[in-house]
Amino acid sequence: MEKQFETNPFLIAFEVGAKNGYQNTKPKVTNQFIKSWKYVIWRSEKKKGTCETCKNMDGKLLDIDSITTDLWPAHPNCACKLEKTVAIASGTLTEKGMLGIDNKFIICDDKIRRNILKDANRYKNDCLPYQKGRIYYTIEIEPGGRKYLILSNDGLCFFTLNNFKTIYPVENEEIEAKNRNLNEEKYIEQFQKELSLLEKGNMAPMAYTYIMKNVYDWYLSDDIAERKMIENQIEVFRKTGYKKTGIAFYDNGIKYMPSLPEALLSEEEHFFRNHLNIEYEWSDFEKLNQRLPEGYRWKQMGIMKSIIHQNTAPFWKWNRKYVSFDGYFEAVYSYDNQSLNEETASEDMGTYNYGPSTSGKSLFDMLFAYKEHYLKDMLPYFYKKNTKKDYEDFLNGKGLIP
Ligand SMILES: [Zn+2]
Ligand SMILES: [Zn+2]
Repeated sequence: MEKQFETNPFLIAFEVGAKNGYQNTKPKVTNQFIKSWKYVIWRSEKKKGTCETCKNMDGKLLDIDSITTDLWPAHPNCACKLEKTVAIASGTLTEKGMLGIDNKFIICDDKIRRNILKDANRYKNDCLPYQKGRIYYTIEIEPGGRKYLILSNDGLCFFTLNNFKTIYPVENEEIEAKNRNLNEEKYIEQFQKELSLLEKGNMAPMAYTYIMKNVYDWYLSDDIAERKMIENQIEVFRKTGYKKTGIAFYDNGIKYMPSLPEALLSEEEHFFRNHLNIEYEWSDFEKLNQRLPEGYRWKQMGIMKSIIHQNTAPFWKWNRKYVSFDGYFEAVYSYDNQSLNEETASEDMGTYNYGPSTSGKSLFDMLFAYKEHYLKDMLPYFYKKNTKKDYEDFLNGKGLIP
């Protein structure tokens, strides 16, 4: 086939695209850098013991959707990390911008794109996302041999400003933000499965705590690489049958209490609940609660439900108590937003509930839930307090009134 484009094919494509309703602008690059929400970079440890698989992955740019648990972590105890990277906003790739056009359609028409790629130079780079059948092409977009677009036959788009020394993905900020919001809307939903396992006595409370701590950390993260690692860690944990996290604190807790206690609690079991709770500083807690979808936010309790958390509160400056959507976790903050915990105010701190304190739709459910919560959480608290130290003080006649 004869060569269709004498001058820069990208320019022509863009002019053709303009006839289809897009702006007729020459692609003058103003390149605004943004955080990538589509790609991450693999970083392996450069140590003696690092295996070949991990070493070979170092520095590769990966499409977030391609990173299943088969890929990362590469094996148990894999010390490789995923790292966030920057992208170039497709909206700023030209002087006037190409807002509303997805990466795939930077060259607007599929037919035109295919024609261009026929005439573009093949490009090979082991660090770009690999997929069977994927071929990369480059197009020089400004004379001078520095600025090139790199396109794949299946619609990926990258850009270099320095003759391929650094390659950035091109991303549409609006589209990525929309995807991110959609993900945040539904991520936590899937863990209803684990909640029901816990409720039915088929999961260790510590296993559920591990998962929810990770889920909340996921919501707090502003970094797609961090989020991906959390997602995959939870997946890997699921595959162990909720038995092994690789972290001694959690793994010991899972072994110690394999399911929610059914009968009255021993003293040791009662104090064990302090390991099961989840705690955040107020600034994080506030951010977390803004990001959680409705129905999954922590609820602030009225004063009657937080009355036993007011021992350390100054007069008329109440501590605020929040309970997680499932009723298991509690957080208490003072009027000046200090998180109350074992160190700061053990008699008022938030405590894990073996009997969730807010569940139940019908009156019967509510009474049953209250009974469970009363027997497993409140009664032991009245007798044993929140910590061993408080309990000993109490026995010695110091401190709290029961
Ligand atoms: Zn390895
Ligand atoms: Zn590794």
